[in-house]
Amino acid sequence: MTTAGSALIDDLVVANHILYVEGVVDGFGHVSVRHDGRDDRFLLACGVAPATVTADDILEIDFDGVVHDDAGRRSYLERFIHSEIYKARPDVVAVVHSHSPAIIPFGVTKRITLKPVCHMSGFLGFATPIFEIRDTAGEDNNMLVTSAKLGRALAESLGKTDFALMRGHGSVTVAKSLKLAVARATWAEMNAKLQTEALRMAGADGDAGVNYLTLGEAAGSMAINETVVDRPWDFWKAKARVALAGLAR
Ligand code: MN
Repeated sequence: MTTAGSALIDDLVVANHILYVEGVVDGFGHVSVRHDGRDDRFLLACGVAPATVTADDILEIDFDGVVHDDAGRRSYLERFIHSEIYKARPDVVAVVHSHSPAIIPFGVTKRITLKPVCHMSGFLGFATPIFEIRDTAGEDNNMLVTSAKLGRALAESLGKTDFALMRGHGSVTVAKSLKLAVARATWAEMNAKLQTEALRMAGADGDAGVNYLTLGEAAGSMAINETVVDRPWDFWKAKARVALAGLAR
């Protein structure tokens, strides 16, 4: 159980459902938000698939990754992604970690960088960081961020940006609000699909054959998107309610 406000808990449950319905998470992946009543903890579900999360599944976790739950439930092995980013980034209010598939190729190809091709994804920037787990965990590792040390290395890769790829694994998206983090994770996956298609059409011209947003366009569109995020959120919320109505939870 958590002492956080019920509206925040409900939004976090909805965030889990939206991310599933919009194709960002599946059996794995998770979303967290800072506790609204205390500054030393954040909220994350116990170890269940996002589509099945209910309010009872939301747990409190501190910035060392320790789960505080009277019932002794566990959360995700990769909760350190969240705890270390919150520790490093006071400006971050919510974090999404996903394995959304269209993103993955951009973390493993050497000459192609994930960059904004459309006006919903300016937050991606033009030098998307790629977290290389081998730099911390060595050549033989399980690819998962299962310790504070690995979480810290990921947070260092993310730096001051809002999005980082995790090579051969997925991505992490952060924002100043839960709704914006969910929207960004959705838009990042969309951008990856569009960029892949644009690069395919550009053929031999490669990256030079694609007309990306400019820095100014990225910043300008991002500023607008942040002010209207309630609209897609409300739509995605209603859509998820219908889509998951028959799911036993
Ligand atoms: Mn993962």
